[in-house]
Amino acid sequence: MLKAAFPGSFDPPTLGHLNIIQRAAGIFDEILVVVAENRQKKNLFSATERLAMLQELTENQENVSVAVCDTLIVDFLQKEDIKLLIRGVRGLEDFSFEFELSMMNKALDPDIETIFMTCDPQYSVLRSSFIRELASFQGNVSGMVPPLVAQALRAKFLQK
Ligand code: ADP
Repeated sequence: MLKAAFPGSFDPPTLGHLNIIQRAAGIFDEILVVVAENRQKKNLFSATERLAMLQELTENQENVSVAVCDTLIVDFLQKEDIKLLIRGVRGLEDFSFEFELSMMNKALDPDIETIFMTCDPQYSVLRSSFIRELASFQGNVSGMVPPLVAQALRAKFLQK
């Protein structure tokens, strides 16, 4: 039984994230998408909002579930008895960052294996931070995020 975690901020979830989730779900038996409640980052969406969006977006994928993590990811993985960690890579810049992160996680827990999945080409420039910025100016984000996320972004920036 191969169970893998796909952790990230998902602030907000994009079509790039969903592409990795869908492809990973075709490779591994179970995927746990882990919403990181990062204390240092000022998030646009709360962890509860990100969890709810991801749950709705993956509800038709039987082997995908979603959880929130407010601890170190290695501690969370130990608790869940998961040894595989998936990270998406858009290009060399992501890779150098992800490589260092994987070394750090390996130092913290040598049993954790990080698996890098390259993004599909059409998603290589999708980045949650760009999408937040674009949405803050009421820019068109359809084609970058699923409709429910586009709707949530519109609602969020109307509130502000
Ligand atoms: P972080 O919290 O490190 O900024 P994100 O929450 O944005 O990461 O994304 C979670 C994971 O998804 C990371 O491994 C990131 O590299 C990957 N990812 C983000 N956007 C894309 C994309 N467009 N295509 C493939 N992978 C992506």
